[in-house]
Amino acid sequence: MEEASNKFVAIKGNIDGGPEESDFEIKSETIWVWLKANEVEVIVKNLYVSVDPYQLNRMKSPSSWPYAGETRSGWSYEVCKPKKGDSVFVSAASGSMGSLVGQYAKLFGCRVVSCAGTQQKVDLLKEKLGFDDAFNYKEENDLKSALKRYFPDGMDIYFDNVGGKMLEAAVANMKQFGRVAVCGVMSEYTGNGKRAALDMLDVVYKRITIQGFLAADYLKCYADFMKTTTDHLRTGKMHSLCDISHGVESVPGAFVGLFSGENIGKKIVQIADQ
Ligand code: NAP
Repeated sequence: MEEASNKFVAIKGNIDGGPEESDFEIKSETIWVWLKANEVEVIVKNLYVSVDPYQLNRMKSPSSWPYAGETRSGWSYEVCKPKKGDSVFVSAASGSMGSLVGQYAKLFGCRVVSCAGTQQKVDLLKEKLGFDDAFNYKEENDLKSALKRYFPDGMDIYFDNVGGKMLEAAVANMKQFGRVAVCGVMSEYTGNGKRAALDMLDVVYKRITIQGFLAADYLKCYADFMKTTTDHLRTGKMHSLCDISHGVESVPGAFVGLFSGENIGKKIVQIADQ
């Protein structure tokens, strides 16, 4: 019999509003593994865990959210079909999805404007990731006018990570036949923000396509995505943004921080040494 200790993070109960660190507790357990003759068992030691906004939707009371995501495979950019010269807007652009999508759009020859929640993030988007422009959405009183300023002729594509008022403002600034990829609605997960109420006449008269998607729908592209992205990272055409905390005790804080924009890039927690 082999004995191993396991430390893990548990929620104390369902979380229906914005998450707080006190909603979580760190627990320990001892695991025993009985090996029978000729049997081989493997104990896996996790080194890193991914912390993702969608996980909040799995912590809610059983609700109307039909799917909260099981797989995270990345982005093939098949949705919205960007082409050279398209004007593209990306929200939560310094985050895991946004930073990758904006860089892919640049590689496709699009003009990319993005937004994030601090000046430090805005500088990084322009200087490190090479986006054409970026702004701090928290400093804008009127998001519709802000987007009009950055897209005087309208936008072809909006990659939506946040939903709510930003989605409303983006739809109001789409060109005819504009395309919206709804990746997530960050501002709506906690129940504190306004849910998007789109001007449907805009959608009709401008013939706007709004498409939700899940990364899991594109698993067929995973190998190609990994190879292409790795090549771009290796040759310096793309940059990865990674935000690493240390220790299983930091998981609740890392998770809660996603909802106040504390992370810059993909949030990961290192829970053990090699
Ligand atoms: P992330 O962008 O790395 O982190 C979340 C960021 O969202 C924060 O850093 C914060 O940055 C911003 N944010 C938080 N609350 C906000 C609010 N109320 N309004 C506007 N921005 C807010 O997270 P991610 O993992 O890349 O996920 C981004 C979105 O993609 C989420 O909606 C997630 O659910 C979705 N997603 C979807 C799929 C899929 O298969 N469809 C897969 C993965 C992720 P600021 O400082 O800019 O506010």
